[in-house]
Amino acid sequence: MATKKSNTIKLKFDSARSLAPAPESKSAAKIDPQYELFINGKMEKPQSKKYFPTINPATEEKLSMIAEANGADVNKAVTAARNAYAKTWKKMPPAERAKYIYRIARMIQERAREFAIIETLDGGKPIRESRDFDVPTAANHFFYYAGWADKLEYAFPNRRTEPLGVAGQIIPWNFPLLMAAWKIAPALACGNTVVLKPAENTSLTALKLAEIIQEADLPPGVVNIITGAGATGAAIVNHPDINKIAFTGSTEVGKIIQRAIAGTNKKATLELGGKAANIIFDDAPLDQAVEGVINGIFFNQGHVCCAGSRLYVQESVFKEVVRKLKDRLETLIVGDPIDKNTDIGAINSKAQLDIINKYIKIGQQEGAEMYQSSCALPKKGFFCRPTIFTNVAQSNRIAQEEIFGPVLAIQSFRTDDEVIEKANNTPYGLSAGVWTDKGSKIFNMTTKLRAGVVWANTFNKFDPGSPFGGYKESGYGREGGVHGLNAYVNIV
Ligand code: ADP
Repeated sequence: MATKKSNTIKLKFDSARSLAPAPESKSAAKIDPQYELFINGKMEKPQSKKYFPTINPATEEKLSMIAEANGADVNKAVTAARNAYAKTWKKMPPAERAKYIYRIARMIQERAREFAIIETLDGGKPIRESRDFDVPTAANHFFYYAGWADKLEYAFPNRRTEPLGVAGQIIPWNFPLLMAAWKIAPALACGNTVVLKPAENTSLTALKLAEIIQEADLPPGVVNIITGAGATGAAIVNHPDINKIAFTGSTEVGKIIQRAIAGTNKKATLELGGKAANIIFDDAPLDQAVEGVINGIFFNQGHVCCAGSRLYVQESVFKEVVRKLKDRLETLIVGDPIDKNTDIGAINSKAQLDIINKYIKIGQQEGAEMYQSSCALPKKGFFCRPTIFTNVAQSNRIAQEEIFGPVLAIQSFRTDDEVIEKANNTPYGLSAGVWTDKGSKIFNMTTKLRAGVVWANTFNKFDPGSPFGGYKESGYGREGGVHGLNAYVNIV
Protein backbone atom coordinates (compact mmCIF):
# COMPACT_ATOMS: atom_id res chain seq x y z
CA MET A 1 0.00 0.00 0.00
CA ALA A 2 1.23 3.50 -0.78
CA THR A 3 2.45 5.26 2.30
CA LYS A 4 2.06 8.96 3.02
CA LYS A 5 4.27 11.09 0.82
CA SER A 6 6.21 14.14 1.88
CA ASN A 7 5.55 17.45 0.12
CA THR A 8 8.88 17.34 -1.66
CA ILE A 9 8.06 14.02 -3.23
CA LYS A 10 4.61 15.24 -4.19
CA LEU A 11 6.11 18.28 -5.90
CA LYS A 12 8.65 16.23 -7.85
CA PHE A 13 5.94 13.75 -8.76
CA ASP A 14 3.57 16.44 -10.04
CA SER A 15 6.24 18.14 -12.11
CA ALA A 16 7.30 14.83 -13.68
CA ARG A 17 3.74 13.91 -14.60
CA SER A 18 2.88 17.38 -15.88
CA LEU A 19 5.57 17.31 -18.58
CA ALA A 20 3.99 18.02 -21.96
CA PRO A 21 3.82 14.93 -24.17
CA ALA A 22 6.93 14.49 -26.32
CA PRO A 23 6.07 11.64 -28.67
CA GLU A 24 8.58 10.49 -31.26
CA SER A 25 7.08 10.91 -34.74
CA LYS A 26 5.92 7.60 -36.13
CA SER A 27 6.33 8.79 -39.70
CA ALA A 28 9.85 7.37 -39.97
CA ALA A 29 8.54 3.87 -39.37
CA LYS A 30 7.14 2.11 -42.38
CA ILE A 31 5.19 -0.96 -41.36
CA ASP A 32 3.62 -3.07 -44.12
CA PRO A 33 0.14 -4.51 -43.53
CA GLN A 34 1.53 -8.03 -43.99
CA TYR A 35 4.93 -9.71 -43.78
CA GLU A 36 6.14 -12.91 -45.46
CA LEU A 37 9.01 -15.26 -44.64
CA PHE A 38 12.56 -14.33 -45.59
CA ILE A 39 13.96 -17.45 -47.25
CA ASN A 40 16.86 -17.71 -49.69
CA GLY A 41 17.12 -13.94 -50.06
CA LYS A 42 13.45 -13.46 -50.98
CA MET A 43 10.21 -12.71 -49.20
CA GLU A 44 8.18 -15.92 -49.59
CA LYS A 45 4.53 -16.60 -48.78
CA PRO A 46 4.19 -19.30 -46.11
CA GLN A 47 3.22 -22.75 -47.32
CA SER A 48 0.96 -22.89 -44.27
CA LYS A 49 -1.01 -19.98 -45.85
CA LYS A 50 -1.49 -18.77 -42.27
CA TYR A 51 -0.84 -15.34 -40.74
CA PHE A 52 -1.23 -13.99 -37.22
CA PRO A 53 -1.55 -10.41 -35.97
CA THR A 54 1.13 -8.47 -34.14
CA ILE A 55 -0.18 -5.71 -31.89
CA ASN A 56 1.08 -2.60 -30.14
CA PRO A 57 0.86 -3.56 -26.45
CA ALA A 58 0.50 0.10 -25.46
CA THR A 59 -2.69 0.58 -27.48
CA GLU A 60 -3.82 -2.99 -28.30
CA GLU A 61 -4.04 -1.91 -31.97
CA LYS A 62 -3.00 -4.28 -34.73
CA LEU A 63 0.25 -3.24 -36.43
CA SER A 64 0.57 -5.92 -39.09
CA MET A 65 -0.03 -9.55 -40.03
CA ILE A 66 2.89 -11.97 -39.72
CA ALA A 67 3.39 -15.22 -41.64
CA GLU A 68 3.31 -18.45 -39.66
CA ALA A 69 5.96 -20.89 -40.86
CA ASN A 70 5.09 -24.59 -40.72
CA GLY A 71 7.36 -27.64 -41.01
CA ALA A 72 7.56 -27.35 -44.81
CA ASP A 73 8.58 -23.66 -44.52
CA VAL A 74 11.22 -24.51 -41.93
CA ASN A 75 12.54 -27.22 -44.22
CA LYS A 76 12.77 -24.76 -47.10
CA ALA A 77 14.68 -22.28 -44.94
CA VAL A 78 17.09 -24.94 -43.63
CA THR A 79 17.70 -26.22 -47.17
CA ALA A 80 18.45 -22.66 -48.33
CA ALA A 81 20.85 -22.20 -45.41
CA ARG A 82 22.55 -25.53 -46.12
CA ASN A 83 23.06 -24.70 -49.82
CA ALA A 84 24.36 -21.23 -49.01
CA TYR A 85 26.74 -22.73 -46.46
CA ALA A 86 28.17 -25.37 -48.76
CA LYS A 87 28.28 -23.37 -51.98
CA THR A 88 29.11 -19.84 -50.85
CA TRP A 89 29.60 -18.79 -47.26
CA LYS A 90 31.94 -21.48 -46.01
CA LYS A 91 34.21 -20.98 -49.03
CA MET A 92 34.24 -17.20 -48.96
CA PRO A 93 37.50 -15.60 -47.74
CA PRO A 94 36.87 -14.40 -44.16
CA ALA A 95 37.78 -10.80 -45.01
CA GLU A 96 35.00 -10.82 -47.61
CA ARG A 97 32.53 -12.18 -45.07
CA ALA A 98 33.55 -9.34 -42.78
CA LYS A 99 32.60 -6.74 -45.39
CA TYR A 100 29.01 -7.98 -45.46
CA ILE A 101 28.78 -7.93 -41.66
CA TYR A 102 30.17 -4.37 -41.54
CA ARG A 103 27.64 -3.38 -44.17
CA ILE A 104 24.77 -4.70 -42.06
CA ALA A 105 26.11 -2.74 -39.05
CA ARG A 106 26.28 0.49 -41.02
CA MET A 107 22.83 0.03 -42.49
CA ILE A 108 21.34 -0.49 -39.02
CA GLN A 109 22.96 2.79 -37.99
CA GLU A 110 21.55 4.56 -41.04
CA ARG A 111 18.05 3.32 -40.25
CA ALA A 112 18.40 3.55 -36.48
CA ARG A 113 15.45 5.87 -35.98
CA GLU A 114 13.08 3.62 -37.91
CA PHE A 115 14.27 0.55 -36.01
CA ALA A 116 13.85 2.27 -32.65
CA ILE A 117 10.31 3.39 -33.38
CA ILE A 118 9.22 -0.02 -34.65
CA GLU A 119 10.84 -1.77 -31.68
CA THR A 120 8.88 0.45 -29.35
CA LEU A 121 5.57 0.13 -31.21
CA ASP A 122 5.80 -3.66 -31.45
CA GLY A 123 7.29 -4.45 -28.05
CA GLY A 124 6.13 -1.65 -25.72
CA LYS A 125 9.56 -0.57 -24.44
CA PRO A 126 10.22 3.16 -23.99
CA ILE A 127 11.59 4.86 -27.09
CA ARG A 128 14.47 6.13 -24.97
CA GLU A 129 15.57 2.53 -24.39
CA SER A 130 15.19 1.35 -27.97
CA ARG A 131 16.80 4.53 -29.34
CA ASP A 132 19.71 4.77 -26.89
CA PHE A 133 20.36 1.14 -26.09
CA ASP A 134 18.79 -1.58 -28.26
CA VAL A 135 19.50 -0.25 -31.72
CA PRO A 136 23.02 1.18 -31.21
CA THR A 137 24.07 -1.93 -29.27
CA ALA A 138 22.74 -4.16 -32.07
CA ALA A 139 24.79 -2.21 -34.64
CA ASN A 140 27.85 -2.42 -32.35
CA HIS A 141 27.51 -6.16 -32.18
CA PHE A 142 27.71 -6.48 -35.96
CA PHE A 143 30.71 -4.12 -36.01
CA TYR A 144 32.45 -6.10 -33.28
CA TYR A 145 32.05 -9.52 -34.88
CA ALA A 146 32.84 -8.21 -38.36
CA GLY A 147 36.25 -7.45 -36.87
CA TRP A 148 36.75 -11.06 -35.76
CA ALA A 149 35.81 -12.73 -39.07
CA ASP A 150 39.35 -12.69 -40.48
CA LYS A 151 41.14 -12.95 -37.13
CA LEU A 152 39.92 -16.27 -35.81
CA GLU A 153 43.48 -17.58 -35.62
CA TYR A 154 44.11 -14.94 -32.94
CA ALA A 155 40.99 -15.97 -31.03
CA PHE A 156 42.11 -19.61 -31.13
CA PRO A 157 45.93 -19.48 -31.24
CA ASN A 158 47.66 -22.56 -32.69
CA ARG A 159 44.32 -24.13 -33.46
CA ARG A 160 42.40 -24.52 -36.68
CA THR A 161 38.69 -23.85 -36.57
CA GLU A 162 35.88 -24.65 -38.89
CA PRO A 163 32.29 -23.44 -38.87
CA LEU A 164 29.55 -25.68 -37.52
CA GLY A 165 27.21 -25.38 -40.51
CA VAL A 166 23.60 -24.27 -40.19
CA ALA A 167 22.58 -22.55 -36.96
CA GLY A 168 18.93 -22.51 -35.83
CA GLN A 169 18.44 -19.43 -33.68
CA ILE A 170 15.36 -18.79 -31.55
CA ILE A 171 14.96 -15.51 -29.71
CA PRO A 172 12.57 -13.91 -27.20
CA TRP A 173 10.48 -10.74 -27.19
CA ASN A 174 12.37 -8.56 -24.74
CA PHE A 175 15.23 -7.39 -27.02
CA PRO A 176 14.04 -8.42 -30.47
CA LEU A 177 16.62 -6.66 -32.67
CA LEU A 178 19.46 -6.91 -30.19
CA MET A 179 18.97 -10.66 -29.68
CA ALA A 180 18.90 -11.14 -33.46
CA ALA A 181 22.24 -9.28 -33.64
CA TRP A 182 23.71 -11.31 -30.76
CA LYS A 183 22.85 -14.49 -32.60
CA ILE A 184 23.48 -13.63 -36.25
CA ALA A 185 26.72 -11.61 -36.01
CA PRO A 186 29.04 -14.24 -34.43
CA ALA A 187 27.47 -17.06 -36.48
CA LEU A 188 28.25 -15.26 -39.75
CA ALA A 189 31.70 -14.17 -38.63
CA CYS A 190 32.64 -17.80 -38.00
CA GLY A 191 31.30 -18.91 -41.41
CA ASN A 192 27.95 -20.44 -40.46
CA THR A 193 24.61 -19.80 -42.10
CA VAL A 194 21.45 -19.07 -40.16
CA VAL A 195 17.74 -19.76 -39.77
CA LEU A 196 16.45 -17.29 -37.19
CA LYS A 197 13.02 -17.14 -35.60
CA PRO A 198 11.96 -14.05 -33.63
CA ALA A 199 9.32 -14.31 -30.90
CA GLU A 200 5.76 -14.30 -32.19
CA ASN A 201 4.76 -11.02 -30.55
CA THR A 202 7.81 -9.04 -31.70
CA SER A 203 8.68 -10.10 -35.25
CA LEU A 204 8.83 -6.69 -36.91
CA THR A 205 12.41 -5.54 -36.34
CA ALA A 206 13.76 -8.97 -37.35
CA LEU A 207 11.78 -8.63 -40.59
CA LYS A 208 13.17 -5.12 -41.04
CA LEU A 209 16.61 -6.63 -40.55
CA ALA A 210 15.72 -9.03 -43.37
CA GLU A 211 15.21 -5.97 -45.60
CA ILE A 212 18.68 -4.75 -44.67
CA ILE A 213 20.21 -8.16 -45.32
CA GLN A 214 18.58 -8.12 -48.76
CA GLU A 215 19.86 -4.59 -49.49
CA ALA A 216 23.32 -5.52 -48.21
CA ASP A 217 23.41 -8.15 -50.97
CA LEU A 218 24.26 -10.95 -48.61
CA PRO A 219 24.34 -14.14 -50.71
CA PRO A 220 20.83 -15.70 -50.73
CA GLY A 221 20.23 -18.24 -47.98
CA VAL A 222 23.06 -17.11 -45.68
CA VAL A 223 20.47 -15.60 -43.32
CA ASN A 224 16.85 -16.80 -43.35
CA ILE A 225 14.30 -15.21 -41.04
CA ILE A 226 11.12 -17.12 -40.47
CA THR A 227 8.26 -16.21 -38.16
CA GLY A 228 5.84 -18.18 -36.05
CA ALA A 229 5.29 -19.36 -32.48
CA GLY A 230 6.48 -22.35 -30.42
CA ALA A 231 5.60 -24.97 -33.07
CA THR A 232 7.80 -23.19 -35.61
CA GLY A 233 10.61 -23.03 -33.04
CA ALA A 234 10.21 -26.75 -32.32
CA ALA A 235 10.36 -27.54 -36.05
CA ILE A 236 13.70 -25.70 -36.24
CA VAL A 237 15.04 -27.53 -33.17
CA ASN A 238 13.97 -30.92 -34.53
CA HIS A 239 15.13 -30.43 -38.12
CA PRO A 240 17.79 -33.07 -38.82
CA ASP A 241 19.97 -30.76 -40.93
CA ILE A 242 20.52 -28.16 -38.20
CA ASN A 243 24.00 -28.27 -36.60
CA LYS A 244 23.53 -25.85 -33.76
CA ILE A 245 20.71 -24.37 -31.70
CA ALA A 246 21.14 -20.96 -30.10
CA PHE A 247 18.20 -20.17 -27.84
CA THR A 248 17.33 -17.32 -25.55
CA GLY A 249 14.05 -17.60 -23.66
CA SER A 250 12.39 -19.29 -20.74
CA THR A 251 14.02 -22.03 -18.67
CA GLU A 252 10.95 -24.17 -19.38
CA VAL A 253 11.42 -24.07 -23.17
CA GLY A 254 15.20 -24.37 -22.71
CA LYS A 255 14.62 -27.71 -21.00
CA ILE A 256 12.31 -28.87 -23.81
CA ILE A 257 15.03 -27.99 -26.32
CA GLN A 258 17.69 -29.78 -24.31
CA ARG A 259 15.55 -32.92 -24.25
CA ALA A 260 14.82 -32.63 -27.98
CA ILE A 261 18.49 -32.51 -28.99
CA ALA A 262 19.75 -35.11 -26.51
CA GLY A 263 21.48 -37.90 -28.41
CA THR A 264 21.92 -35.82 -31.57
CA ASN A 265 25.09 -34.10 -32.80
CA LYS A 266 23.50 -30.69 -32.45
CA LYS A 267 25.40 -28.20 -30.34
CA ALA A 268 23.52 -25.74 -28.18
CA THR A 269 23.83 -22.52 -26.27
CA LEU A 270 20.94 -21.67 -23.97
CA GLU A 271 20.45 -18.30 -22.32
CA LEU A 272 17.53 -18.73 -19.96
CA GLY A 273 15.95 -17.03 -16.96
CA GLY A 274 17.43 -15.08 -14.10
CA LYS A 275 16.74 -13.72 -10.63
CA ALA A 276 19.58 -11.25 -10.20
CA ALA A 277 20.54 -9.89 -6.80
CA ASN A 278 21.63 -6.31 -6.36
CA ILE A 279 23.60 -5.94 -3.14
CA ILE A 280 24.01 -2.58 -1.42
CA PHE A 281 26.67 -2.35 1.34
CA ASP A 282 26.54 0.40 3.93
CA ASP A 283 29.61 2.11 2.48
CA ALA A 284 28.07 2.45 -0.99
CA PRO A 285 27.15 5.80 -2.56
CA LEU A 286 23.47 5.33 -1.80
CA ASP A 287 21.88 7.70 -4.31
CA GLN A 288 23.90 6.17 -7.11
CA ALA A 289 23.02 2.68 -5.90
CA VAL A 290 19.31 3.49 -5.72
CA GLU A 291 19.40 4.84 -9.28
CA GLY A 292 21.19 1.68 -10.39
CA VAL A 293 18.56 -0.51 -8.74
CA ILE A 294 15.75 1.50 -10.38
CA ASN A 295 17.47 1.20 -13.74
CA GLY A 296 18.05 -2.51 -13.18
CA ILE A 297 14.46 -3.52 -12.57
CA PHE A 298 12.01 -0.76 -13.54
CA PHE A 299 13.29 0.75 -16.77
CA ASN A 300 12.33 -1.67 -19.50
CA GLN A 301 9.41 -2.94 -17.35
CA GLY A 302 11.63 -5.60 -15.80
CA HIS A 303 11.59 -7.41 -19.16
CA VAL A 304 15.25 -8.33 -18.88
CA CYS A 305 16.59 -11.81 -18.04
CA CYS A 306 19.36 -10.17 -16.02
CA ALA A 307 16.98 -7.65 -14.32
CA GLY A 308 17.94 -6.93 -10.73
CA SER A 309 14.70 -8.32 -9.33
CA ARG A 310 16.09 -8.96 -5.84
CA LEU A 311 17.70 -6.34 -3.64
CA TYR A 312 19.79 -7.01 -0.52
CA VAL A 313 20.54 -3.97 1.62
CA GLN A 314 22.93 -3.94 4.58
CA GLU A 315 20.91 -3.51 7.75
CA SER A 316 22.34 -0.16 8.89
CA VAL A 317 21.23 1.59 5.68
CA PHE A 318 18.12 -0.49 4.99
CA LYS A 319 15.55 2.10 6.06
CA GLU A 320 17.29 4.91 4.22
CA VAL A 321 17.59 2.94 0.99
CA VAL A 322 13.97 1.83 1.08
CA ARG A 323 12.84 5.43 1.66
CA LYS A 324 14.95 6.67 -1.25
CA LEU A 325 13.59 3.91 -3.47
CA LYS A 326 10.01 4.81 -2.63
CA ASP A 327 10.70 8.48 -3.33
CA ARG A 328 12.23 7.66 -6.68
CA LEU A 329 9.42 5.28 -7.56
CA GLU A 330 6.95 8.15 -7.31
CA THR A 331 8.83 10.17 -9.90
CA LEU A 332 8.90 7.42 -12.54
CA ILE A 333 6.71 8.10 -15.53
CA VAL A 334 4.67 5.09 -16.62
CA GLY A 335 2.89 5.48 -19.94
CA ASP A 336 3.07 5.80 -23.68
CA PRO A 337 6.34 4.12 -24.72
CA ILE A 338 6.67 6.32 -27.80
CA ASP A 339 6.89 9.40 -25.53
CA LYS A 340 10.51 10.41 -24.92
CA ASN A 341 9.76 11.21 -21.26
CA THR A 342 8.49 7.74 -20.44
CA ASP A 343 10.52 5.62 -18.02
CA ILE A 344 8.33 2.52 -17.92
CA GLY A 345 6.45 1.52 -21.05
CA ALA A 346 3.93 -1.21 -21.74
CA ILE A 347 4.13 -4.80 -20.60
CA ASN A 348 4.81 -6.81 -23.74
CA SER A 349 1.55 -8.82 -23.76
CA LYS A 350 -1.65 -9.45 -21.85
CA ALA A 351 -0.33 -12.93 -20.97
CA GLN A 352 2.82 -11.43 -19.41
CA LEU A 353 0.78 -8.81 -17.51
CA ASP A 354 -1.37 -11.62 -16.08
CA ILE A 355 1.78 -13.43 -14.91
CA ILE A 356 3.12 -10.29 -13.22
CA ASN A 357 -0.21 -9.57 -11.52
CA LYS A 358 -0.35 -13.19 -10.34
CA TYR A 359 3.06 -12.75 -8.67
CA ILE A 360 2.01 -9.44 -7.10
CA LYS A 361 -0.91 -11.30 -5.48
CA ILE A 362 1.36 -14.16 -4.42
CA GLY A 363 3.74 -11.67 -2.77
CA GLN A 364 0.88 -10.22 -0.71
CA GLN A 365 -0.44 -13.65 0.21
CA GLU A 366 3.05 -14.67 1.32
CA GLY A 367 2.95 -11.83 3.83
CA ALA A 368 5.37 -9.42 2.16
CA GLU A 369 4.64 -5.71 2.42
CA MET A 370 3.84 -4.08 -0.91
CA TYR A 371 4.46 -0.54 -2.05
CA GLN A 372 3.38 0.67 -5.47
CA SER A 373 3.81 3.97 -7.21
CA SER A 374 0.61 5.98 -7.06
CA CYS A 375 0.78 6.91 -10.76
CA ALA A 376 -2.29 6.62 -12.96
CA LEU A 377 -2.09 3.98 -15.68
CA PRO A 378 -3.24 4.51 -19.29
CA LYS A 379 -6.77 3.20 -19.89
CA LYS A 380 -5.82 1.06 -22.90
CA GLY A 381 -2.86 -1.25 -23.26
CA PHE A 382 -0.99 -3.45 -20.80
CA PHE A 383 0.63 -1.50 -17.98
CA CYS A 384 1.86 -2.26 -14.49
CA ARG A 385 2.79 0.06 -11.64
CA PRO A 386 6.36 -0.27 -10.41
CA THR A 387 6.10 -2.40 -7.29
CA ILE A 388 8.42 -3.13 -4.39
CA PHE A 389 8.05 -5.70 -1.65
CA THR A 390 9.73 -5.54 1.76
CA ASN A 391 9.42 -8.04 4.61
CA VAL A 392 10.31 -10.75 2.12
CA ALA A 393 11.54 -14.19 3.21
CA GLN A 394 14.23 -15.96 1.20
CA SER A 395 11.84 -18.86 0.56
CA ASN A 396 9.06 -16.63 -0.79
CA ARG A 397 8.19 -17.27 -4.41
CA ILE A 398 8.71 -13.59 -5.26
CA ALA A 399 12.33 -14.01 -4.08
CA GLN A 400 12.91 -17.28 -5.93
CA GLU A 401 11.00 -17.24 -9.22
CA GLU A 402 11.48 -15.08 -12.28
CA ILE A 403 8.61 -12.59 -12.61
CA PHE A 404 9.82 -10.69 -15.68
CA GLY A 405 8.07 -7.51 -14.64
CA PRO A 406 8.65 -4.29 -12.66
CA VAL A 407 8.56 -6.02 -9.28
CA LEU A 408 11.41 -5.82 -6.76
CA ALA A 409 11.79 -8.05 -3.65
CA ILE A 410 13.91 -6.40 -0.93
CA GLN A 411 15.64 -8.05 2.03
CA SER A 412 18.23 -6.90 4.55
CA PHE A 413 21.53 -8.57 5.51
CA ARG A 414 24.31 -8.12 8.06
CA THR A 415 27.47 -9.84 6.84
CA ASP A 416 29.20 -10.62 3.55
CA ASP A 417 28.80 -14.36 4.06
CA GLU A 418 25.11 -14.04 4.77
CA VAL A 419 24.43 -12.04 1.61
CA ILE A 420 26.53 -14.35 -0.57
CA GLU A 421 24.53 -17.29 0.74
CA LYS A 422 21.22 -15.52 0.08
CA ALA A 423 22.18 -14.12 -3.32
CA ASN A 424 23.27 -17.57 -4.52
CA ASN A 425 20.18 -19.24 -3.15
CA THR A 426 17.97 -19.42 -6.26
CA PRO A 427 17.86 -21.88 -9.15
CA TYR A 428 19.34 -19.17 -11.39
CA GLY A 429 22.74 -17.56 -11.86
CA LEU A 430 22.74 -15.06 -14.69
CA SER A 431 23.82 -11.76 -13.16
CA ALA A 432 24.32 -9.80 -9.96
CA GLY A 433 25.25 -6.29 -8.84
CA VAL A 434 27.46 -5.09 -5.99
CA TRP A 435 27.42 -1.55 -4.60
CA THR A 436 30.31 -0.62 -2.29
CA ASP A 437 33.13 1.85 -1.93
CA LYS A 438 35.69 -0.90 -1.33
CA GLY A 439 37.52 -2.60 -4.18
CA SER A 440 38.47 -5.55 -1.96
CA LYS A 441 34.81 -6.19 -1.20
CA ILE A 442 34.00 -6.14 -4.90
CA PHE A 443 36.66 -8.80 -5.59
CA ASN A 444 35.48 -10.92 -2.69
CA MET A 445 31.90 -10.80 -3.93
CA THR A 446 32.63 -11.36 -7.62
CA THR A 447 34.57 -14.53 -6.89
CA LYS A 448 31.82 -15.96 -4.68
CA LEU A 449 28.63 -14.94 -6.46
CA ARG A 450 27.50 -17.73 -8.78
CA ALA A 451 26.46 -15.47 -11.64
CA GLY A 452 27.72 -15.15 -15.19
CA VAL A 453 27.99 -11.37 -14.95
CA VAL A 454 28.62 -9.33 -11.81
CA TRP A 455 28.39 -5.57 -12.17
CA ALA A 456 30.12 -3.36 -9.61
CA ASN A 457 28.69 0.09 -8.86
CA THR A 458 26.65 -0.09 -12.03
CA PHE A 459 24.05 -2.42 -13.49
CA ASN A 460 22.77 -3.67 -16.86
CA LYS A 461 25.79 -2.44 -18.78
CA PHE A 462 26.56 -4.22 -22.01
CA ASP A 463 29.38 -4.23 -24.46
CA PRO A 464 29.87 -6.52 -27.46
CA GLY A 465 33.38 -7.32 -26.20
CA SER A 466 32.08 -8.67 -22.90
CA PRO A 467 30.71 -12.23 -22.59
CA PHE A 468 27.24 -12.88 -21.18
CA GLY A 469 25.62 -16.11 -20.00
CA GLY A 470 24.60 -18.06 -16.93
CA TYR A 471 25.14 -20.72 -14.33
CA LYS A 472 22.65 -23.36 -13.18
CA GLU A 473 19.13 -22.95 -14.62
CA SER A 474 20.15 -19.73 -16.37
CA GLY A 475 21.65 -21.88 -19.11
CA TYR A 476 25.06 -22.49 -20.59
CA GLY A 477 27.38 -21.07 -23.21
CA ARG A 478 28.49 -17.47 -23.53
CA GLU A 479 27.44 -14.82 -26.01
CA GLY A 480 29.50 -11.74 -26.74
CA GLY A 481 33.22 -11.17 -26.74
CA VAL A 482 35.81 -13.64 -27.86
CA HIS A 483 33.96 -16.30 -25.81
CA GLY A 484 30.95 -15.88 -28.10
CA LEU A 485 33.00 -17.23 -31.02
CA ASN A 486 33.40 -20.59 -29.26
CA ALA A 487 29.73 -21.28 -29.73
CA TYR A 488 30.02 -21.19 -33.52
CA VAL A 489 33.19 -23.14 -34.33
CA ASN A 490 34.55 -26.64 -34.16
CA ILE A 491 38.17 -26.67 -33.07
CA VAL A 492 39.97 -29.19 -35.24
P1 ADP B 1 9.22 -16.15 -22.99
O1 ADP B 1 8.76 -16.69 -21.68
O2 ADP B 1 10.30 -15.15 -22.93
O3 ADP B 1 8.10 -15.81 -23.94
P2 ADP B 1 9.67 -18.56 -24.44
O4 ADP B 1 10.72 -19.52 -24.03
O5 ADP B 1 8.24 -18.97 -24.35
O6 ADP B 1 10.02 -17.29 -23.62
O7 ADP B 1 9.92 -18.06 -25.92
C1 ADP B 1 11.18 -17.74 -26.44
C2 ADP B 1 11.23 -18.19 -27.89
O8 ADP B 1 11.08 -19.61 -27.95
C3 ADP B 1 10.12 -17.62 -28.77
O9 ADP B 1 10.65 -17.32 -30.03
C4 ADP B 1 9.13 -18.76 -28.84
O10 ADP B 1 8.32 -18.74 -30.00
C5 ADP B 1 10.06 -19.96 -28.87
N1 ADP B 1 9.47 -21.23 -28.43
C6 ADP B 1 8.41 -21.43 -27.60
N2 ADP B 1 8.19 -22.76 -27.42
C7 ADP B 1 9.15 -23.41 -28.13
C8 ADP B 1 9.50 -24.79 -28.33
N3 ADP B 1 8.81 -25.77 -27.75
N4 ADP B 1 10.56 -25.09 -29.11
C9 ADP B 1 11.30 -24.11 -29.67
N5 ADP B 1 11.03 -22.80 -29.53
C10 ADP B 1 9.98 -22.44 -28.77
